[in-house]
Amino acid sequence: MPKVSDKWPRPRPSQSSLQRRALHHPGRIWVLLILGSLTLNLVMIALLASLYEGGGTPGCKAERSILVAEKKKSVVAAPQQQSTVEELVSAEEISVSSTSGKRPASKDAIINLDHGDPTMFESFWKEMGEHGDITIPGWQAMSYFSDVTNLCWFLEPEFADEVRRLHKLVGNAVADNHFIIVGTGSTQLFQAALYALSPPDAPEPMSVVSAVPYYSSYPAVTDYLQSGLYRWAGDASMFDGDAYIELVCSPNNPDGSIREAILKSRYGKTIHDLAYYWPQYTPITDAADHDIMLFTVSKSTGHAGTRLGWALVKDKDVAKRMIKFIELNTIGVSKDSQLRAAKILKAVSDGYELPVSQTNHRLFDFGRQLLSIRWQKLQAAVKASDIFSLPDFPLALCKFTGENTGTYPAFAWLKCEKEEVEDCEGFFRKHNIITRSGRHFGVEPKYVRISMLDRDETFHLFIERVLMLHH
Ligand code: PMP
Repeated sequence: MPKVSDKWPRPRPSQSSLQRRALHHPGRIWVLLILGSLTLNLVMIALLASLYEGGGTPGCKAERSILVAEKKKSVVAAPQQQSTVEELVSAEEISVSSTSGKRPASKDAIINLDHGDPTMFESFWKEMGEHGDITIPGWQAMSYFSDVTNLCWFLEPEFADEVRRLHKLVGNAVADNHFIIVGTGSTQLFQAALYALSPPDAPEPMSVVSAVPYYSSYPAVTDYLQSGLYRWAGDASMFDGDAYIELVCSPNNPDGSIREAILKSRYGKTIHDLAYYWPQYTPITDAADHDIMLFTVSKSTGHAGTRLGWALVKDKDVAKRMIKFIELNTIGVSKDSQLRAAKILKAVSDGYELPVSQTNHRLFDFGRQLLSIRWQKLQAAVKASDIFSLPDFPLALCKFTGENTGTYPAFAWLKCEKEEVEDCEGFFRKHNIITRSGRHFGVEPKYVRISMLDRDETFHLFIERVLMLHH
């Protein structure tokens, strides 16, 4: 190709015949432009009309058309282990719909229990009133920096203090010999940990694995950037090799089981996702003391919208690399969120530690009582229907309460026992209940995951509807 130089000027598009004509016939070009714009408008109107097809007002009709749209999309998603990156990501995207986070508007409305949106905790925090409030003056928390003497320079000291205090109170994790790293949700920390544990000069990307059924975000979050450092390698129990990162979620999302790492190579690394290791969900049997432990306010206190998580990390070099990731990714983490989370965690600890605190200020008691009632209701409804089954959970001594307590997971992992029903998600969908198929967790579609953390009215409507489903 000839090099473009000053000697060989490119024909300039600005001197096009269109322009010449515009100079000579200005009226004609205006007509052309107006016609073009009219055509464009007509196309846009047609497109919008097709989107709103099925009813103009936001009601049952509109919801139904969304349900149909979701149905179409879900057919596309393939089983996760064989799917491409695009499919994995779209498998996550289908979970957000117009019914996400909303109260069902009528008795026969769509009930969306696809997400683990922790709105059941709203009533607790309403009761708490000003104990959970903060005011941030306009001039405060403006700097990028929080504490430059700390390895994690963007960690607010107040938040770190409340994290250590809460772990000491609950006894669910050893925080003292660990670095605390704050993240935008534990989702960011998970990625920071993958980055920190993957050698930059390895000949192959590090394999990331987790035992099935695994949390549905793990494959998609691992692979969406197609990193050269790490890649999703599926079910840990099928993995054959020495170098890997194993994700251990305990209690496990989706099935609530207590887990340990299943791979044991000395070159392997583990990340413990302990998002649900709190007394409202499970008996606290020991203080976890792993190399990397992830927690989040989304599940501990219900503040998913604050987008704040923390990691407890033993090794200084790993901690440094995780911090580097967050520096590069978001130059730190919202101070506003950290200050809010500090106040929230303080209110939780105060509820147990202050002698004057009222019993209705005890978050874990509130959560456990509500979840135990919900689990009883669901188990009764499942028994009556005679078409589903649920896992069993043993009682165990909880060191936090000092009592033998049950397990009340944040999700119900339900199996359709009806022989003719292969696709349990589709079965529920026919009854206007949105769940998440087992496919997203690396298992058969006979299973679905159902959130137990929604508001009372949504949960009650769900139980009523399950009670109407018979063999
Ligand atoms: N890990 C597990 C096991 C989860 O269930 C969730 C939330 N669904 C997360 C991590 C993400 O938490 P966050 O909202 O803090 O990003």
